Parts: sequence; structure tokens; C-alpha cells
Amino acid sequence: MRQQFASDNNAGICPQALARVLEANAGHATGYGDDARTQEARERIAALFEADCEVFFVFNGTAANALSLAQLCQPFNAIIAHAFSHIETDEAGAPEFFSGGAKLMTADTPLAKLTPEAVEALATRYFGPHHVKPAVLSLTQATELGTVYKPEELRALTDVAKRHGLKVHMDGARFANAVARLGCKPADISWRAGVDVLCFGGVKNGLAVGECIVFFDRTLSHEFQWRIKQAGQLNSKMRLVSAAWLGLLDGDVWLENARHANAMADRLAAGLKNIAGVALIAPVEANAVFADIPPELQRALREKGWRFYTFLGETGCRLMCAWDTEPETVDQFLTDLREAANS
Ligand SMILES: *Cc1c(COP(=O)(O)O)cnc(C)c1O
Repeated sequence: MRQQFASDNNAGICPQALARVLEANAGHATGYGDDARTQEARERIAALFEADCEVFFVFNGTAANALSLAQLCQPFNAIIAHAFSHIETDEAGAPEFFSGGAKLMTADTPLAKLTPEAVEALATRYFGPHHVKPAVLSLTQATELGTVYKPEELRALTDVAKRHGLKVHMDGARFANAVARLGCKPADISWRAGVDVLCFGGVKNGLAVGECIVFFDRTLSHEFQWRIKQAGQLNSKMRLVSAAWLGLLDGDVWLENARHANAMADRLAAGLKNIAGVALIAPVEANAVFADIPPELQRALREKGWRFYTFLGETGCRLMCAWDTEPETVDQFLTDLREAANS
């Protein structure tokens, strides 16, 4: 299939990660993560974050989010999140299920970014044993609308959380894209900004499988390994996941992949701005472009074989770029759209 803009998961595994998997595939190694490569991957992720953190690997992002949230919640707790967050809209109730009943409380603030005021309002909405008790603030970086929280924005949010005794979880399925855009250190938008637990995404960045969970406060990860095992998320051939992570970490391939995907989104957005009838819905700050495209132009694009999602009403389209999106793919999409708009 040709390159598409439907999702960054339409791309494959990047060559550097694949090479490491092939190398790790030769010979035998101890299972369940008790091997040298997994140990090295954990140490290098801790070094990347400049933190004495606890690192775990699970198969996918839904498990990373649901299990880490469950770890921070009692069944009677609540998790504060954005209305347009993956945990609210795309995980089939996994956070509620794995936490044994914790409720998601959401706010629909602009650009898919929570505000300190919205968090304050949700954190103080309920009081007493007849209601759920908020325990976690969950932030998505980059957001589901392809926007990014700056370090000071995160700090303002996590300050409110801490004031109300909430732990802070970050869904970082596209954390790499946020780091690339902000030009900051990974620590600047995680623990240094008040994040307690980060789900650090590798799959959309160029892996086949294996998301990483980073506990910056080690005490919070108490007995977490049992939670992973019970949920069927402990990989017996872990070395093949951790080896791929080493391929992303070598020479900061993860950052290069994210920079490239972001640059392709910028290229796409720049072209879309000049097409009559098409308008950007949100600033392009990661690897997603959200644009209003009239239904007849969408139809023309789909007839030419393009695949993408229309998420927001009839015109709100999401165009995702990946680590391997070629400039020529972007340019061809723009040419096809321009042609349809001019006919
Ligand atoms: C893709 C994604 C995930 C993880 O999804 P899985 O399909 O379960 O791996 C989590 N959060 C966000 C914001 C995502 O885009």
C-alpha cells in the first residue's frame, strides 16, 4: 500500500530498530525481561530522562495508560482528563476496567489542552463519600489535536494537581514529537514539570510493538510487575521489544524520527493554507494536521486513493505524518487536492 495520512501507525518499523531486532533474534536469551538488552534499555531510558526512574515495557499504549492509571487509583477514585483524550475516546473503557471502576472526569477546553481553571473546577467539584474522589490528572503530550503543552503550561497544571493531592499521569504516545517541537529535554516536559508517570510511546515513533512506562517516583511502581502480568502484558520474549528500543535510542533516532514527522506535517500545513476552501483547525505543533476540507474535496481525494479520517463533524479531517512520510507523498496529496479544488 502506498503511504497514507490515516495514522502514524500505518508506517512500519524503522530500519535502525529493525536491525537491532534482527541482531537480538540470533541466539537465545533469558525471557520476561531478565536479559542484558532489557536491562540496557531501562538504563538508557533512565539516562535519557536524567532520572532515577523505574521503567517497564508493555505491548501497546492502551495497556500502558490503563495499567499505569490503575496503579494510581482506587476503584472509587476519579481521573481528570480532556474530553478529547485517548483514554476517554479510544480505549473501550480500559482505564475504568483495569482500575476496577475509577471514573473519568473530563473538560472540553480549546485545542485539546486542559487549563489550570478547568482542572481546579473538576478537582473541587465533588466532596465527601457520596462522590468519586479525584486522584489523578492525566495529560496528553502531544495532544490528540496535535497541539503541545509548553513546560510552563505543564507546571501550571501540575501545580493545581499537587495542591489537590492528585498524581500526574502523561499519555506520551507522541511525547517524542513534543520534545522535537519544543527543542527541550525530555525531563523538561515530564518529571521536571511535575509528571509522576509517563507512558512514553515508541510505536508511532518507529517501533512495531512495545510502549514504555516510566515511573519517576519509584514508590508509585510498587508491585506494578504483577499488574502487568495479570493483564497479559508481560512479554516472554522481551529482548525483541527492548532491542528495538535500543535502535530508537542509539544516536537519538527517536528524536530524528519525530523531527521528520513534524517537518512533514509542517510541509503539509503550509500547502493546505494556500488551497481555497481548506482551513487549519488547530496550530500544527506535532505530526498531525487537522483541517476543514469540504466533503466534495474529501470525496475527490478518496477517489484518488487517499485514506484519512474525518473526525470532527463532516469537514474536520485528521492527516497524520509518520517517521517515514516522504516529501513527495505530501506534495502529491497537495497536488491532488489543489486539482480537485480548481475543477
Ligand atoms: C495511539 C495512541 C495511544 C496508544 O494506542 P494503542 O493503539 O493502544 O497502542 C495512546 N494515546 C494516544 C494519544 C494515541 O494516539
